[in-house]
Amino acid sequence: MARERLYLFDTTLRDGAQTNGVDFTLADKLAIARMLDELGIDYVEAGYPGANPIDTSFFSERRPMRSCLTAFGMTRRPGRSTSNDPGLVALLEAEADAICFVAKSWDYHVRVALETTEEEMLASIRDSVRAAKAKGREVMLDCEHFFDGYKAKPEFALACAKAAYDEGARWVVLCDTNGGTLPHEVEKIVGEVCSVIPGDHVGIHSHNDTEQAVANTFAAVRAGARQIQGTLNGLGERCGNANLVSIIPTLMLKPEFSEKFEIGVSDDKLHILTHVSHALDEMLNRAPDRHAPYVGDSAFATKTGIHASAILKEPATYEHVSPELVGNKRRVLVSDQSGKSNVLAELERIGLAVDKNDPRVARLLEEVKDREAIGYAYEAADASFELLARRMLGSVPKFFDVSYFDVKVEQRGQNGGAEVLTTAVVKVKIGDEILINAAEGNGPVNALDVALRKDLGKYQKYIQGMRLTDYRVRILNGGTEAVTRVLIESADESGEHWATIGVSPNIIDASFQALMDSIIYKLVKSGAPA
Ligand SMILES: [Zn+2]
Repeated sequence: MARERLYLFDTTLRDGAQTNGVDFTLADKLAIARMLDELGIDYVEAGYPGANPIDTSFFSERRPMRSCLTAFGMTRRPGRSTSNDPGLVALLEAEADAICFVAKSWDYHVRVALETTEEEMLASIRDSVRAAKAKGREVMLDCEHFFDGYKAKPEFALACAKAAYDEGARWVVLCDTNGGTLPHEVEKIVGEVCSVIPGDHVGIHSHNDTEQAVANTFAAVRAGARQIQGTLNGLGERCGNANLVSIIPTLMLKPEFSEKFEIGVSDDKLHILTHVSHALDEMLNRAPDRHAPYVGDSAFATKTGIHASAILKEPATYEHVSPELVGNKRRVLVSDQSGKSNVLAELERIGLAVDKNDPRVARLLEEVKDREAIGYAYEAADASFELLARRMLGSVPKFFDVSYFDVKVEQRGQNGGAEVLTTAVVKVKIGDEILINAAEGNGPVNALDVALRKDLGKYQKYIQGMRLTDYRVRILNGGTEAVTRVLIESADESGEHWATIGVSPNIIDASFQALMDSIIYKLVKSGAPA
């Protein structure tokens, strides 16, 4: 049976750009647009030309891509003609394949915010759609506050949608702008709209204010909507938009949807989903959500011993889909709750073949438990666990020694002109060679890191491409005195990322351990000689 086509519309670069703390540069926007294009997204909404210089310059030239590049903007202002509204003129001039207009479909907003009449709002929709079509653009209308508007005055909300559709808009998109609508309401209202406007011209735009943006999206699809709007990682104002990173695999891997619908993302491209999600976080300089469905580090992780032994025998016992399909991986966490099977599973993943009755396996488990008792947490530091295991099995070469380090923090000047300077000196011994490195940093850990990685002699070429991507400190109250746990995440030029840990009463010492583990792990991975 032929499957129906569902269209994906990404608004990471427009609605997602409203996220608190997110500021895309033009280069970021171009890189993200390319990534969405490669993934197979049908529509990429890249911004609001005329609203800010970055969006204006994005649309100032042709950006060739397979996705339909969409510019966002308002319908003509009340009381103006389309040619006499500078905002609309700029939008029509934008180098885009499609234009997505936004218009108010809640009578209350028309009256209070726009201070105009319902008739004038409908005329503005008709005129704007007509003008954009005349420019040869594909046209769609975002009906703002559609669900609240429909509950208040269904005939007006529907008239807005109908005006755009009758004028030839390709899509009419129903927006739950404040995110307060519940799935059963969405399903009912979208169903009613689809009895008036064919569902293959109806889209859904949900926000996550009741944490149901994804559920609302699927409710709309069940009721007949055939365009889905959302963002990568659910980026967006307040609690975010519907998360395409969760929606895409559900559409492709759950028979309820995959048997009825097809989308522009191929099975091959589904494999890069985890990478795409993490790449966006990298760009935003924030740590990926470990618990994100499908793509999070913990999405396919298990910690309990009995689960681990079942997962090893038959992954389907605990997994709803296989992690490889979305480019993620299965992880069996090694922690103080784990049994021998977790350790064996982790050793197998690392590629260390050990017989399950090898006494070193039991010793490794004991060591993990002892260390976790004093504050280590190996489930969050896979690279440190791997080094611990490799050391117990005797396979970590002695690359170098740090025989001395010194970190100094000083304040110079006074009050208004005071400046805090940090310097670090590290003495490294590689074979018979002694190297002394000094560096400044914006803090003690940064200075130590820079000094340590400044010159590692013959090993320098292996660590050239690595960088720290996250640094987290936690003070643990273990017994009589507090200890500090430092977790560091590093990445290299190939995009691989790994986590290491250090624990000590002293924060510099804990950081130093984690930094050392990170460098040594990179050397082991790169096959650097002893
Ligand atoms: Zn929105």
